[in-house]
Amino acid sequence: MGKYWNEEIECMDRESMKKLQSERLAAQVKHVYENVPYYKKLMDEKGVTPDDIKGVDDLHKLPFLTKADLRDAYPYGLLAKPLADCVRIQSTSGTTGRRVVAFYTQHDIDLWEDCCARAITAAGGTKEDVCQVCYGYGLFTGGPGLNGGSHKVGCLTLPMSSGNTERQIQFMRDLGSTILCCTPSYAAYIGETLHEMGLGPDDIKLKAGIFGAEPWTEEMRHEIERLLGIKAYDIYGLTETSGPGVSFECEEQTGMHINEDHFIAEIIDPDTGEVLPEGSKGELVFTSITKEAFPLLRYRTRDICVLSRKKCSCGRTLVKMTKPMGRSDDMLIIKGVNVFPSQIESVLLKMSNATPNYQIVVDRAGNVDTFEIKVELSDDMFTDTIKSVEELERKISSDIQSILGIRAKISLVEPKSIPRSEGKAVRVIDKRKLV
Ligand code: ADP
Ligand code: ZN
Repeated sequence: MGKYWNEEIECMDRESMKKLQSERLAAQVKHVYENVPYYKKLMDEKGVTPDDIKGVDDLHKLPFLTKADLRDAYPYGLLAKPLADCVRIQSTSGTTGRRVVAFYTQHDIDLWEDCCARAITAAGGTKEDVCQVCYGYGLFTGGPGLNGGSHKVGCLTLPMSSGNTERQIQFMRDLGSTILCCTPSYAAYIGETLHEMGLGPDDIKLKAGIFGAEPWTEEMRHEIERLLGIKAYDIYGLTETSGPGVSFECEEQTGMHINEDHFIAEIIDPDTGEVLPEGSKGELVFTSITKEAFPLLRYRTRDICVLSRKKCSCGRTLVKMTKPMGRSDDMLIIKGVNVFPSQIESVLLKMSNATPNYQIVVDRAGNVDTFEIKVELSDDMFTDTIKSVEELERKISSDIQSILGIRAKISLVEPKSIPRSEGKAVRVIDKRKLV
């Protein structure tokens, strides 16, 4: 078993990849135009026909599709195949509003699972591995996607789903799991529980983890790697484009390779829609060129990141995207300043005695925003002197102020008082939106 799942594609030269993408794009546009009245209308309004799209260089002529379109067209409005040809639906987690549903033919599922197999292989997975999947199963794409990829690779698959953390650890030990797949926040929780049970990395066989579905910082990566004694790999995807496996990290751990034979990526200015040159930070837009049932063209993800074609030491030529540090709609505006929760996570995890458990509470008193960060103390810190706790509070407060330019009230709270996440963590409580 080599280090690639599909070497021909993963290491294809740029020119051949562009040719492959162009052929697939032209066929896909035709398929969508002929079968999806909703999209035909958008194209007609923009005055574009399938004949105008000969290849990747014509992509910019197509209209964008947004989450609002998906909600508008819910549930069948963007379906490009007869329902009788579809075998599955999955749904978004509903992190930012009403859920949307996506449809799959058997072919769509095969390709999606193949993308996940590439991710598992890049993390060192082979048929000798025992892969424990603790992403949620069901409508959420995390469990089914990695489960399918793990089968393809031939790993012994443990379809655990999330929850019951002590049992997760028991199975991990009894069955010798070597690869763990879950959200990064759940991985941190599993690590914390392992240590609470009086165990450590030497008591388990894990070597790698494949973590995604939510933003996480480099500091969080180091924390998980330390707690579990593994190498932690990032994986990215969204229900609208299939699920996890749109992109995946290799051993270089400097961004995720996008599966460009299935998805064409663009970075745009989120305000003007203008396509930005490589290396610019902006909103990620995907066009799926192989999906049959639910092929979205120029779908605006709202995820903010940067694309890079810098040569990667792993040998893959697939373009890389940086870890998205939050969606444009995750961004909080507090006292007029843009704040991403990941900036706060980064500050906290740089402190040796803070834990990855925190919550951001935003409210409004009169016309002024209030901004509080609850940070959970570690057990050691909790029994420490008042003076050192105060010192920690001051340090966090001044680091937050220097990064964000605004002050936050720092509340250090007791160990275990912030709810743990078994799926996507809820980091922000914005009470301004509740009124
Ligand atoms: P929802 O939009 O309801 O959360 P999904 O479960 O489909 O639905 O989640 C997809 C979103 O999750 C992506 O658009 C992105 O914002 C986030 N995401 C997925 N993987 C990652 C990752 N590795 N890093 C950061 N964010 C991620
Ligand atoms: Zn690489």
